[in-house]
Amino acid sequence: MTFPDYNLFCSRVAEVNARIAAACARAGRPVASVELLAVTKNHPATAAEYAARYGLRAVGENRVQEGVEKRPQCAAPIAWELIGHLQSNKARLAATHFDRIQSVDSEKLINLLDRAAAELGKVLPILLQINAGADPAKFGAEPADASRLLALALTKPALRVEGLMTIAPLSDDPAVARRSFANLREIRDRLAGESGVPLRELSMGMSGDLDAAIAEGSTQVRVGTALYGERT
Ligand SMILES: *Cc1c(COP(=O)(O)O)cnc(C)c1O
Repeated sequence: MTFPDYNLFCSRVAEVNARIAAACARAGRPVASVELLAVTKNHPATAAEYAARYGLRAVGENRVQEGVEKRPQCAAPIAWELIGHLQSNKARLAATHFDRIQSVDSEKLINLLDRAAAELGKVLPILLQINAGADPAKFGAEPADASRLLALALTKPALRVEGLMTIAPLSDDPAVARRSFANLREIRDRLAGESGVPLRELSMGMSGDLDAAIAEGSTQVRVGTALYGERT
């Protein structure tokens, strides 16, 4: 799979949308309940242009600096979401240049992002990233800390918590990913019950495991490889 021209990109989106539709049908969910986020990391700004031209709402980037450099090169209007680990010294830059930050996983980041967003005069949408698969190799808050982080974030006037995000552990056994997706949904249901905030967004599932994620309630799948090919 190489980087596609626009026509090939369109047929790959159609294939991914067919997978999403099939998974929704199996789960008895409306197809419009799952959004496709195009993950453009390690690809040229053209990747974001394609997504915008197709009519997708948003693209996902892994690294702050890469998104900051690429965004001005993409003339087409589209939302930019940060899905990769955020270091505290980049919090202000991220709050300035991204429309939503999915990788919020510490009190320190919540404090810094709120301050930066307030100074920018905006309300910044965020997701809390939870290490729902207890993967030692992954970032994300521990499930046991999720209540505390949410409570703090809900006191911040310049942040809007829209839901949760997770990355499943890499495993040959598909049941491992599925369990971590189910776990994220259970954590969301518990937090929503405790806080009274709906936390509607469940960002979970990638090219290899989006079907299992949708079965467990994903509302946004983050797909790179199946759209743009292997990253170099
Ligand atoms: C790279 C990345 C993706 C996309 O992964 P693919 O397997 O290429 O679809 C999704 N989410 C995050 C957080 C990523 O870093």
